[in-house]
Amino acid sequence: MKACTVKPGDISSARVEEIAAPPESDGDVLVEGLYVGICGTDVEISVDGYGEPPAGHERLVLFHESLGRVLEAPAGSGFAAGDLVAGVVRRPDPVPCEPCGQDQWDFCRNGQFTERGIKGHDGYGSQQWRVPAKFAIKLDPSLDRLGVLLEPTSVVAKAWDQVDKISARSAWDPHRALVTGAGPIGLLAALIGRQRGLEVTVLDRVTDGPKPGMVRDLGATYVNSVDDLAAPPDIIIEATGIGQVVFDVIGRAAPDAIVCLTGISSGTREVGIETDAVNKSMVLSNEVVFGSVNAGLANYGQAADALRKADNGWLAQLITRTVPMAQWPKALQREPNDIKVVVDLQA
Ligand code: BGC
Repeated sequence: MKACTVKPGDISSARVEEIAAPPESDGDVLVEGLYVGICGTDVEISVDGYGEPPAGHERLVLFHESLGRVLEAPAGSGFAAGDLVAGVVRRPDPVPCEPCGQDQWDFCRNGQFTERGIKGHDGYGSQQWRVPAKFAIKLDPSLDRLGVLLEPTSVVAKAWDQVDKISARSAWDPHRALVTGAGPIGLLAALIGRQRGLEVTVLDRVTDGPKPGMVRDLGATYVNSVDDLAAPPDIIIEATGIGQVVFDVIGRAAPDAIVCLTGISSGTREVGIETDAVNKSMVLSNEVVFGSVNAGLANYGQAADALRKADNGWLAQLITRTVPMAQWPKALQREPNDIKVVVDLQA
């Protein structure tokens, strides 16, 4: 079968490779790979050498955002041939830590976890893959290829879940949310914010293309600058990973605000910050700023629910380009108006 493989850090090595059938040690549910989604992490692996291939291998089967159809599943597993599924990214480390032991591998404490398509474990960029039933998430069949959005949605579902846990600290329900960055993570964060009935504003620097309309279709407000905010936000989901934006929005938040950082920065920019003033204002306003990565098993369930409840026409606008497997390295090159680019593993 064919797979998308790369030597991390050597983009010129990216190619379609003939590899052996997925090993049974990967799990008892056999899946036909349909689509994978591209994210910044795939570019970082291919260009900058983030991540690592499985031990003893030079090349990594890429991609962690998956969608497939079950080919074979054991009786009693909860899955049957034909089910639409996506695979969980992270595997608990071989040396169990407390969170990993409770399906919260996203909070792994000793760092020995693996991640499919990223760290020490081949990914889902192959025409067939296997997973243990516990690491397969069933999707509503009506989602069809939109199910490839499950993994980024799980990351966002975790962010909102953590916001809930933190906001339980005081007798106050946040109602105004700001999302910074209208990429896939930001737009999915805005979707969930609206599903929760919050007043949502999305900030992004682009002024044309599909993003402003998509935000308005959610019943949210689109702005290009923090100066355009009508009122200070109670919740901020930061999805640009740009340090300057992070500190700008920290300074604009309402009293008791919760700021969730989800963007994995790739730059090394330096900005001058009045650190004492930031400290003082955060203390005097009980502000919480926290980082959030990956997703635990419960968050995948929340994400599958959020996608099921969403309007498929709206979700479809997120997928702006589809690249056939034979040309997959082209999917890593950003084009104007790209939001989510997917690779068709059967084309
Ligand atoms: C993925 C996460 C992963 C993180 C760090 C992100 O792109 O969505 O699942 O944990 O990269 O490797």
